[in-house]
Amino acid sequence: MTVAREIRIEGVVQGVGFRPFVFRLASEFGIKGWVLNSSEGVTIWAEAEEEVIDGFYREILAHPPKLAIIVNHSIEPREIKGYDHFFIKHSERSDHKDVIISPDVSTCDDCFREITDPNDRRYHYPFTNCTNCGPRFTIIMDVPYDRDKTTMRDFPMCPDCAREFHDPMFRRFHAQPNCCPKCGPQTTLRDLEGNVYPGLGHEFLKEGKILAVKGLGGFHLVCDATNRESVAALRKRKIREFKPFAVMCKDLDVVKRYCHLSPQEAELLESPAHPIVILKRRHLDDLPPEIAPGIHTLGVMLPYTPLHYLLFAEGLEILVMTSANISDDPLIIDNDEALKKLKGIADYFLMHNRNIYNRCDDSVTAVVGGDVQFYRRARGYVPLPVDLPVDPPGVILGCGGDLKSTFCMTKGRGAYLSQHLGDINHYGNYQQFLYTIPRFEKMLDVKPEIVVYDLHPDYMATRWAKALQGLRKIGVQHHQAHMASCMAENQVTEPALGVVCDGTGYGLDGAIWGFEFFAGTPDSLERMAHLAYMPLPGEITIKHPSRMAFTYLYEIFGDAGLQYAQSYLTALSGEEQQVLVKQLENRFNTVLTSSCGRLFDAVSALLGICTRVQYEGQAAIELETQADIDDAVPYSFDLNTGSRPYTLGVCSTFQEILGDLRHNIPVSIIAGRFHSTIAEMIIKVLERMREDTGLSVVALSGGVFQNRLLYLLLNRRLEEQGFEVLSHRKVPTNDGGLSLGQVYIASEVIRKDVSCHSIKDIEN
Ligand code: ZN
Ligand code: ZN
Ligand code: FE
Repeated sequence: MTVAREIRIEGVVQGVGFRPFVFRLASEFGIKGWVLNSSEGVTIWAEAEEEVIDGFYREILAHPPKLAIIVNHSIEPREIKGYDHFFIKHSERSDHKDVIISPDVSTCDDCFREITDPNDRRYHYPFTNCTNCGPRFTIIMDVPYDRDKTTMRDFPMCPDCAREFHDPMFRRFHAQPNCCPKCGPQTTLRDLEGNVYPGLGHEFLKEGKILAVKGLGGFHLVCDATNRESVAALRKRKIREFKPFAVMCKDLDVVKRYCHLSPQEAELLESPAHPIVILKRRHLDDLPPEIAPGIHTLGVMLPYTPLHYLLFAEGLEILVMTSANISDDPLIIDNDEALKKLKGIADYFLMHNRNIYNRCDDSVTAVVGGDVQFYRRARGYVPLPVDLPVDPPGVILGCGGDLKSTFCMTKGRGAYLSQHLGDINHYGNYQQFLYTIPRFEKMLDVKPEIVVYDLHPDYMATRWAKALQGLRKIGVQHHQAHMASCMAENQVTEPALGVVCDGTGYGLDGAIWGFEFFAGTPDSLERMAHLAYMPLPGEITIKHPSRMAFTYLYEIFGDAGLQYAQSYLTALSGEEQQVLVKQLENRFNTVLTSSCGRLFDAVSALLGICTRVQYEGQAAIELETQADIDDAVPYSFDLNTGSRPYTLGVCSTFQEILGDLRHNIPVSIIAGRFHSTIAEMIIKVLERMREDTGLSVVALSGGVFQNRLLYLLLNRRLEEQGFEVLSHRKVPTNDGGLSLGQVYIASEVIRKDVSCHSIKDIEN
């Protein structure tokens, strides 16, 4: 007997070829009815024998299109309507927008074949895409996902493209950004004077020129990575002396020539997101030293749009591809802006006339101990949600920190993190923060009822949140948010231990925290231990690690410390040292800090490795690069368990480091021993906390865990000691993951209706 069923599928089901897939499947099963992109997802009306529909439904769930992610699905009986064929219905608007917008997807094999086939009508066409690949998030202005709601609405399809678009059996059926050389976007290559050139600029790249290239989520600055003069010029013009440049390699073979590559790393490079993957270099002398000064790794990606593939040519196999922005301002996305702001940096401009709506940086990842870790989560991943372990009691907006900023908005259990927004103390980044929030509200069709902010009174996001009217506001401590972020992505609702090794964050006592141990559930985390406080002589110390080294020496050894400073801190003049002594004596313009990042800075400077910091974490990264961890014996340290919170003292640590320096022990050994010391400190504190609480699940979070040496060593040691380790795999361990933790804490505070001393809850 023929029956009718309505099937609903929610998740990432639009822009991924779901309807053509359903259409083909329906013909195979002999099902009548229709399929429709609705605001909730995909709705299917199926009429056939009951078993046939069941088989059809099972097949949809079992083998959906490669890029689809099914979050919810349902099947309901309906009155039969008597359709005589199966068809694709026009999109309708309804009240709910439950569709998850797909992130951008790198060029698929089929499209790649077309652009490299001289007989294909898309031969060498830089904007070729299909239902399995192409721009999504970066071009979508509204939902449901249809061409007229993307920046492709400026390009009406030619008859050939329209035919493909309407042919259900074809790969481009309802591929919204479908286009070809006749009807789609075009590139222009020009210089600042307005002279236009044919081609994509291969000759210029070979000559060593710097190109500004408009890509998917923004502009890149591009040059031949093997040309030392070009790379050095780019560094000089961009005024970016040390921060490593990312490169794009023509293919995996080229990557393997320059870097060690595990199968897992290769898989990540080739995954639909095509992120930057941090790889270990094979040799340090096969590329100009200006690519990545002071470190032994390289951020590598593969071409992810046809335009990128076409940039490579005979003699051009590895290109520098660095985000085109001025200092720390947002990535440039607009042609006119590029011409204006990149004047004096780029020699030529390879632009196109498809607008970028949502700015999106390249994501940065690494494979660490067999796990994928994010340093920056953006293109290829955003706006996919991370699931919360609980249903939040309303729509929550976590507004993140200030550096490596992201915000997080909830819809049901889905936590939607924004793309990386950068340092929002910069005007442009702050503007982006401001206009991206309403875009997410629109995309998710939600209105935040609760806003969560960091306790730092000077954070831009905090000031913004506090000034909001008519919604509940909750302040959350920075490092508690870090720990909760790790718990959230690991679906932990039970009490756990946590260690947060971080740069800086505002503490509940007004000090700058950063090496913190907590125990409990997100709504009630007790600070169990921390690194003993040191004065931080002014914000400027963050950029000048020698000042932090001096502080440790002087605070620990007093006048004897001055002797050590003279021997080892040559970057500080005698005069600067005198001023620092006065400042430390009078506690003038100093705050107390337990920052782990500053401890790394101090040791890095003391060993003469890094004395001036130009990008966040530089001193620690260079210290890690130098460290030889094999058989590294930890230094002593002092764990004071007199009262809670316990404190970790490093007097004996510094004493022993100075001893090693006096005995001319190589810096690599000292750096290795220091890493091993930090791991040992953490183990000792956690063992004590386990005794106190009976808990043995440990969440690791905070920016310092980007240090792979420390992370791997600690993981191994914790497992040996019988701890269960939770770490970040879905969001960054740095402040890019903070907003997720803010949301989780606020959700639990409200759900359990607790008011805890550690959380400031201001009702409006
Ligand atoms: Zn494709
Ligand atoms: Zn066309
Ligand atoms: Fe942090």
